[in-house]
Amino acid sequence: MKIIMLGAPGAGKGTQAEMISEKYGLPHISTGDIFRANIKNGTELGKEAKKYMDQGQLVPDELTVKILLDRVAQDDCKNGYVLDGFPRTIPQAEVLDAELTKLGDKVDFAINVDVPDDNIINRMSGRRACVSCGATYHVVFNPTKVEGVCDKCGANLILRDDDKPETVKNRLDVYHKQTQPLIDFYSKKGILKEVDGTVAMNEVFNAITAILG
Ligand code: ADP
Ligand code: AMP
Repeated sequence: MKIIMLGAPGAGKGTQAEMISEKYGLPHISTGDIFRANIKNGTELGKEAKKYMDQGQLVPDELTVKILLDRVAQDDCKNGYVLDGFPRTIPQAEVLDAELTKLGDKVDFAINVDVPDDNIINRMSGRRACVSCGATYHVVFNPTKVEGVCDKCGANLILRDDDKPETVKNRLDVYHKQTQPLIDFYSKKGILKEVDGTVAMNEVFNAITAILG
């Protein structure tokens, strides 16, 4: 099963992708996580991506498509995957489509986690990310057992640089201009599924499992 998570930054794509990954045994692929791992390791890709990420802009399609196609070509993706944060532009979606078509394959579901902009600002300011394993929490909606410490690996939590309010505003603008058109793109293909992302995480997940079966 191949699943795409759509939604604004902070809508809960990563949270739901992780739950889907566990329940259905599919790899959770986040282009944002791949870029952040490269930044942490000081790679050339990381240096290039950081220039855009710090400003809330998208990393250029050419670079992003390459890392995504390399990732989905790996062995663990044979039975499918859940993509979180890719595609974010129509050209990215078109390349993914063309690559899958070449393999006689296709995306099964594009799930749009719908959350209005007003809720997003709150979500992002409370989001905390683990510096080591990348797990995501929220100070109110999904707190860790010990404040500031990752439940999964014990490392410290941080507020991502690009979750600061001034950058979040840019990211939302970029989302509306460049990413939201994907809703129409996948709707026309007949695979778009909408879920209300404003309710509690488990309720969002129930709506998703009702779709995926
Ligand atoms: P995205 O991957 O779409 O950027 P995340 O999954 O990281 O979003 O979620 C953004 C923030 O909102 C995180 O701090 C997460 O813990 C929190 N969150 C996710 N889903 C919900 C929900 N249904 N209700 C409240 N908070 C949520
Ligand atoms: P995320 O972790 O999904 O919120 O992504 C963090 C940042 O990484 C985004 O604001 C972009 O700068 C960059 N990024 C992640 N995925 C993509 C993508 N598919 N296309 C372009 N930029 C991306």
